[in-house]
Amino acid sequence: MSTSLSLKVMYHTFGCKLNFAETASVAERFAERGHLAVDEGDTPDIIVVNSCSVTAEADRKCRSAIRSWHRRWPDAAIIVTGCYAQLKPEEVQALPGVKVVAGVNDKLRIPLLAEEAAAAVPFPPAKDLTEFMPSCSRGDRTRFFLKVQDGCDYWCTYCTIPRARGRSRSGTIAQIVEQARQAAAQGGREIVLTGVNTGDFGRGRGETLLDLCRELDKVDGIERYRISSIEPNLLTDELIDFCAQSEHFMPHFHVPLQSGSDRVLELMRRRYDTAFFASKMQRIRQAVPDAFIGVDLIVGARGETAEEFARSRDFVDSLDISHLHVFPYSERPDTRALSLPDAVDQAEKHRRADVMIALGNAKHEAFARRFLGTVRPVLLEHSGEGRPMSGFTDNYLRIRAELDPALDNTVVPMLLDALAPDGMSFLAKKA
Ligand code: SF4
Repeated sequence: MSTSLSLKVMYHTFGCKLNFAETASVAERFAERGHLAVDEGDTPDIIVVNSCSVTAEADRKCRSAIRSWHRRWPDAAIIVTGCYAQLKPEEVQALPGVKVVAGVNDKLRIPLLAEEAAAAVPFPPAKDLTEFMPSCSRGDRTRFFLKVQDGCDYWCTYCTIPRARGRSRSGTIAQIVEQARQAAAQGGREIVLTGVNTGDFGRGRGETLLDLCRELDKVDGIERYRISSIEPNLLTDELIDFCAQSEHFMPHFHVPLQSGSDRVLELMRRRYDTAFFASKMQRIRQAVPDAFIGVDLIVGARGETAEEFARSRDFVDSLDISHLHVFPYSERPDTRALSLPDAVDQAEKHRRADVMIALGNAKHEAFARRFLGTVRPVLLEHSGEGRPMSGFTDNYLRIRAELDPALDNTVVPMLLDALAPDGMSFLAKKA
């Protein structure tokens, strides 16, 4: 591998939207230094892996991908960053082909490290996770992911993320508004605000997520914003009301519940109970009746006995929500949950996941049916030769429509004409 010439770099991202946004920033830094992203069929000099450690399965997938890339391109220097690298640097360093393990806060130094990688000095992960690294990535032709916050101070008992990503910190409003302007200049029409604990934006600096949203609302060219996920206790009534009256913040909320049992919520050290969560859902429905509400749920956590699971299921069933993201609980090293009683075996976790996924699908379908035959604004995208147009309504219903490339990256009123066979998306036509 040469270090003085332009390097060919392959990027692979595991995990969340935050990681995708950060990989895009790393790629920009490589490009500024004259290095090229690999094209189809190229042999990479450098493979940058942005890892995830949200579950044991995420760690396993990362290890398996690294082994297979090393078999395919034995001369490529593999550089691993992200949560898995931060939490288990020795384990990652021992994988074949891995030359550098970079901590979460060292992502932007990776191009320099890559140039030195021939020397292969193992790089210890950063211990100090207090800096905010701004990142904004283009998700597809129309959407950008803008990181507004990083880290978390909540220490839920099952979660390893505070260890991997460090203390809660965020960008400034001025910095983030400037990134939104740049995204608009590059043709972005929609921005998804991302973070580990997004609702914690600005804490300690006298700024709030609501202040940020008010300023972003004024940026010319960005027609749509979505907030990727927000803790229920940080989803204030003021923020809900702001989304209700804003033209640019979409009727779309994503709120983690994690369990519909108060006992399990307490064991998880979540900062709300089911009554509070239900009241937030009602508040959203009153203010924004057509809102899409996505809810995260963990099944099979320690302490979730058969009775607590039944309670959780009944509670979820009682909510007027649009979608469930279901995650079987995964034991993570060094978390307090490991000392809790009542572990649930794998087969039972998967059975419970199937129950909740079926419930979530039924809710998604019922929500979609409410809009059959109505007209909603859709940000249309033409994603490639021979493909139809696709896109999302303001309230996050997926549509497909006949090809009309002139409408690419524009918001168009569309008639939701027929439900697709999945029962959750639509075949649509221009209204
Ligand atoms: S709020 Fe809880 S689950 Fe979410 S990142 Fe923080 S500690 Fe993890």
